[in-house]
Amino acid sequence: MSEAAAPTPAAARPAVDTHCPYCALQCGMGLRPAAGPGSGSGSGSGGSSGGAVPVEVVERPAFPVNRGALCGKGANAAALLAPGARLTVPLVRPRRGAPLEPATWDEALDRVAAGLSRTAEAHGRDAVGVFGGGGLTNEKAYLLGKFARVVLRTATVDYNGRFCMSSAAAAQNRAFGLDRGLPFPLEDIPRTGCLVLVGGNPAETMPPFVRYLRELRENGGRLVVVDPRRTRTAGLADLHLAPRPGTDLALALGLLHLVVAEGRTDEAFVAERTTGWPEARAAAMAHWPELVESVTGVPVPQLRETVRLFCDAEASMVLTARGPEQQSKGTDTVSAWINLCLATGRAGRPHSGYGCLTGQGNGQGGREHGQKADQLPGYRRLDDPAARAHVAAVWGVDPESLPGPGRSAYELLDSLGRDVRALLVAGSNPVVSAPHAAHVAERLAALDLLAVSDVVLSETAALADVVLPVAQWAEETGTMTTLEGRVVLRRRAVDPPPGVRSDLEVLHGLAARLGHGEGFPVEPEKAFDELRRASAGGPADYAGIGYGRIAAEDGVFWPCPSADHPGTPRLFLDRFATPDGRARFAAVQHRPAAEEPDAEYPLRLTTGRVLAQYQSGAQTRRVAALAAAAPGPFVELHPRLAERLGIGEGAPVAVVSRRGRAVAPARLTDAIRPDTVFMPFHWPGAGRANTVTNPVLDPVSRMPEFKVCAVRLEPAGG
Ligand code: SF4
Repeated sequence: MSEAAAPTPAAARPAVDTHCPYCALQCGMGLRPAAGPGSGSGSGSGGSSGGAVPVEVVERPAFPVNRGALCGKGANAAALLAPGARLTVPLVRPRRGAPLEPATWDEALDRVAAGLSRTAEAHGRDAVGVFGGGGLTNEKAYLLGKFARVVLRTATVDYNGRFCMSSAAAAQNRAFGLDRGLPFPLEDIPRTGCLVLVGGNPAETMPPFVRYLRELRENGGRLVVVDPRRTRTAGLADLHLAPRPGTDLALALGLLHLVVAEGRTDEAFVAERTTGWPEARAAAMAHWPELVESVTGVPVPQLRETVRLFCDAEASMVLTARGPEQQSKGTDTVSAWINLCLATGRAGRPHSGYGCLTGQGNGQGGREHGQKADQLPGYRRLDDPAARAHVAAVWGVDPESLPGPGRSAYELLDSLGRDVRALLVAGSNPVVSAPHAAHVAERLAALDLLAVSDVVLSETAALADVVLPVAQWAEETGTMTTLEGRVVLRRRAVDPPPGVRSDLEVLHGLAARLGHGEGFPVEPEKAFDELRRASAGGPADYAGIGYGRIAAEDGVFWPCPSADHPGTPRLFLDRFATPDGRARFAAVQHRPAAEEPDAEYPLRLTTGRVLAQYQSGAQTRRVAALAAAAPGPFVELHPRLAERLGIGEGAPVAVVSRRGRAVAPARLTDAIRPDTVFMPFHWPGAGRANTVTNPVLDPVSRMPEFKVCAVRLEPAGG
């Protein structure tokens, strides 16, 4: 071996500061060029079988949110950069039923553009749809929405973030006039006195977040966790409440009832900073403790203890996650938890308030810049004439040419092959992640044209007529907005393999073929600067946030309307974002889940996540280290239930609902209620949890009811 081939010492290979490709914590990390040909065995390579990994993940201790800590998903993220682990050539299906075949980029883009045009001409513009993702950068989400509204001029655009936190967004808009997941930075959590965490399991979904819970406890603060399962996070709590799935709304109303009955209302705050209290109070008083115990299964003494912990502290917080949100009453449920904060004066004050733990990597930014069915960039409303005029001026089009609001995500998917005949999917895998997934797969197969841009051949891409291989996080620059509302910069650390293009290049190529040679920049910073202008003056105002500033300040919190504005880590301290500056109570009542258990389906199924997998698993299932840690689905059930049904540990069990059945090995644990079963949803095939879930929607947010449906269990033999 020559001297020149010797690996460069690690210290001589500077790391590029960037962020994890996965969840909304957006942990800071460094990417250092790997030691040399054939390397990939460095820290966090993940054991890819796809060949050499060009970079290794290293700690970035200076980034304040995670201070260098990463979970296994982030630490192993580089494995998917290996050429053999991902798509590197466009694929085209010559005819229906034929296998996908390699094609040139021109052939692939020509086929997509021609199909979109043909469909619009034959069936109208709204017959062409776009389906985006909450993992796309702000630049991609922005240009994808612009592509739908300006090039396709279709109302049919939405994204998978609708499945993530849309109920929390709707409730925050209703109460505060603004939706930012956390209206305060994470560093405030250890400074509160009592945190009630509802339906979230960050110890598995975002482990570096747990540091904030530990610091809270070390500071003398108290932690209450609400979850039907005794999760790892619940194991950290002072008090664990385990309600039946689908009853979080009754629980919150019962707590508010006790607040009133025990004289713990902050009357001055309610009078000065809120509206709607008499109606909300009356609604809560109909939910007396014994009734709430019978609905939720949470004993009255635990309700009283929660109120005591929450109200005795000088400052308190409620954080919700997918548990209370992914319900057909998710918006009202979150409203009930916000009501609890407002009635006790725990909002718009330091170290107090309500927040949502956003899940997807850009779940926050992805819902602000125009890929949502009812939205324009800057969190503007598509049905607001002033918003349409502002954005149309930035885009250089007539406001009248912009389509109106379209269908929500599940409604869009349900209409495929009927009203909607051609679909472009970017960064989403609904065949695994959508509710009633077998039906969604059928609808996708009924399209005249399905085009998917993705990093890997996901289950959705495998159904496509055209697959476009795109660059991934370490190969392109772009911004993400974290669960704190902090806009951060992911930097390109390595070139994509030959044959791979960026999503911005894909949109540019398609737009040019459809008569829009201008207006779709391929340079991320140019796209972001246009986004800043489009967002200026809107609720999510990014006008003062530039790439250089993000890099210098470790991220900037929106709103930030000008270059000399400091950004806004804490919202609502002086006034809420409503016209009168007051927060609005919502008078909400408990109602049952859309499907309650009955003789035929006597159990409740709830779904969720595991530590080593992320969302539909399209990426993490392909990382050897993660696949080894979490190789497949399972059905978690209580030993008493298992004994009654004759199901042993590890035995295959079928979870059957009105929509279908999913089969996976049984996992027995007394950490779950005996009337409830749990399945993680990261896997396709026979063990796909979303085959079973109920697509019924929340009337306000259009969020499907992932978190509860009626099922029965059957031993599956074999
Ligand atoms: S917690 Fe989230 S952002 Fe951090 S390393 Fe894990 S997946 Fe990545």
